[in-house]
Amino acid sequence: MKVGIIGAGSVGSATAFALIMRGVARKIVLIDMNEKKAQAEAMDIAHAAPFAYANKIKAGTYKDLEGCEIVIVTAGANQKPGETRIDLLGRNVKIFESIIPEIVKAAPNTTLIITSNPADIMTEVALKLSGFPKERVIGSGTVLDTSRFRTLLGYHLGVSPQSIHANVLGEHGDSEVLAWSNGDAGSVQIEELARMIGKPFTPEVKAKIDDCVRNAAYQIIEGKGATYYGIAGALCRICQAISNNEYAILTVSSHHEDVEGVKNVCVSLPSVVGKRGIHSIIYPKLSDSESHDLKLSAQKIKEYSEEALQQISQK
Ligand code: NAD
Repeated sequence: MKVGIIGAGSVGSATAFALIMRGVARKIVLIDMNEKKAQAEAMDIAHAAPFAYANKIKAGTYKDLEGCEIVIVTAGANQKPGETRIDLLGRNVKIFESIIPEIVKAAPNTTLIITSNPADIMTEVALKLSGFPKERVIGSGTVLDTSRFRTLLGYHLGVSPQSIHANVLGEHGDSEVLAWSNGDAGSVQIEELARMIGKPFTPEVKAKIDDCVRNAAYQIIEGKGATYYGIAGALCRICQAISNNEYAILTVSSHHEDVEGVKNVCVSLPSVVGKRGIHSIIYPKLSDSESHDLKLSAQKIKEYSEEALQQISQK
């Protein structure tokens, strides 16, 4: 599979490295406005390729995206300590206005995966700017947050995170919803399982897990300036599902006609992902408070998306 990555910064280069080392992509094109940086990253990663699989990575221009099955967009401003994802919106909309039409010209049949923050709103912006069908405009959404949630649940329950089915829904951001009520491991609801093994999810434990999932990025950015390995793993997993036509269920973000009464909004819900991008959506059964929180999350995204779409149409 040939993959294009726009933005050879922390996220773009870590993702290229993950794709190479896992053999998910056979060809990667790295594009960045800082050409020297893209070239240096491609060269460095290429030197690891012989230890993994036969594949090729190079820095390029938009013309080189021809034939890419996937183009991942990571270009743009990232959060500085104290900044929220929403704070990046105005800057990243401007950047997308220059990038997305170039991708469409070079690779009209590609599937877009959007990671630049605020990711759900940027997915809506990319959908509008590309004119692609909604199945082929995918936000990395809460795939990463779901992984963070499962990791912490796994530590607490003493089972592999891969054996836990519990999702984070809604915004990839402060209003995200940890769906505790329908999470399970070994066909047992997670809270029931925790009671069975004598390690109940008390309100304090739940609050701590919630905080560590919701605020993980802030903590990491405080310590090292940016987050990139987790998201690189998540992006690699999405590409793998598309490349292998897996029909895997992942909490990617995409455009929905109605989420808890909020119309036409990009949020993360469990989605079946394969060769055609998003094949179908699964709307999970939630508790009343989770449904309420999902509605608030969708409303927040909708409000900022409208602002972003207005910024585009004023041109
Ligand atoms: P970074 O600053 O390290 O890299 C961004 C790169 O984009 C830079 O190399 C820059 O030169 C390039 N760029 C900027 N404008 C460009 C343009 N017009 N054309 C081509 N290249 C351009 O930032 P990063 O840490 O890699 O983060 C990238 C984005 O990903 C940010 O918006 C960040 O918030 C987001 N992010 C999202 C998630 C997620 O889960 N969705 C996780 C981590 C980071």
